[in-house]
Amino acid sequence: TVRIGVLTSGGDAQGMNAAVRAVVRAGIQAGAEVFGIHEGWQGAVDGGDQIRRLEWDDVGNVLARGGTVIGTARCAAFRERDGRKRAALNLITHGIDRIIVIGGDGSLTGTDRLREEWPAFVAELADAGEITAEQAERHAQLVIAGLVGSIDNDMVGTDMTIGTDSALHRITEAIDAISSTAASHQRSFVVEVMGRHCGYLAVMSAIAGAADYVLIPESPPADDWKQHMSHVLRQSRRAGRRTSIVVIAEGTQDRQGNPITPEDVRVVLADEMGEDARVTILGHVQRGGTPSAYDRWMATMLGHAAVGEVLRGDREPQLVAVRGNRPTFMPLMEAVAATRRVASLIEEGRYDEAMAARGRSFV
Ligand code: ATP
Repeated sequence: TVRIGVLTSGGDAQGMNAAVRAVVRAGIQAGAEVFGIHEGWQGAVDGGDQIRRLEWDDVGNVLARGGTVIGTARCAAFRERDGRKRAALNLITHGIDRIIVIGGDGSLTGTDRLREEWPAFVAELADAGEITAEQAERHAQLVIAGLVGSIDNDMVGTDMTIGTDSALHRITEAIDAISSTAASHQRSFVVEVMGRHCGYLAVMSAIAGAADYVLIPESPPADDWKQHMSHVLRQSRRAGRRTSIVVIAEGTQDRQGNPITPEDVRVVLADEMGEDARVTILGHVQRGGTPSAYDRWMATMLGHAAVGEVLRGDREPQLVAVRGNRPTFMPLMEAVAATRRVASLIEEGRYDEAMAARGRSFV
């Protein structure tokens, strides 16, 4: 029987459990055995019972849970060749040579490195007598597929990443709550949301929460942004709004590349408008709570598609992504390279090129 390993790696995101559940159940249905690798790549490096067979019922009652039930971690050892070699040994010992990884670009990159080095590891482990010749032959290649778990929605090649929609729900709830208290006191609020290189959460939550102003990394405001923002907020107050809400993505900079912080915005509101604004940094609240319906079904669909992909195993590693609500595939490392390019274009201030390279119509 074919054995598939599934792991979640890097930051957690709502919907990861739906993906793991789908991998386990689609794998079993296809006649494979599925193993959960616990605590991200650390579990593969450590081996033993960190790599455990997952049966159908082991992933019951996880669909509605936030986070990831198989654990996630950042693993320093996996960044070293020796660590990856140990992971290879532990996987081969468990008969696993297909991996579905759910994580961010770092996790996907690390997984692809292991795949590249795998044949060399197999040869070295066989030479050293740590695996048998039969094991070496049976597990000559590692087949991988990647799903993106990240609340930022920053990956090229997909409309959405797992966890983004749930995070958007959390932020919208928070803005709704802030709006009601703000309205009672005619106050202004500055809300910082996640998104180091991607303003998706900021723009979408600003629209969904009826914010007055939004600041994002891909489209830094003009040099006179302070005057412009005060003007816009004053106008809306004059038109009868009792609150002002400004949403800012965490990675926002001005056109000279200087960070714009929520505190900067607060100072503008105080200085230019005489407003006693409050700053709310949502932080980990955004990762919390139950996954949205979208994240559950999208991750289920992609987990199922990833099983088909690794069982075929007949092409270069793929990113299993979503476009137009259907699973789509893109060479994994092309997607990662393009995502990193978008981030550096933004850092260099080449915003139009960054947006063109991201290739989505909106944010
Ligand atoms: P997030 O979106 O939360 O940052 P990520 O997957 O990008 O998720 P990282 O911390 O970059 O998070 O990577 C997670 C783990 O993946 C690392 O701790 C390490 O074990 C592995 N990893 C990342 N980059 C590499 C690399 N270049 N080589 C080997 N392993 C890597």
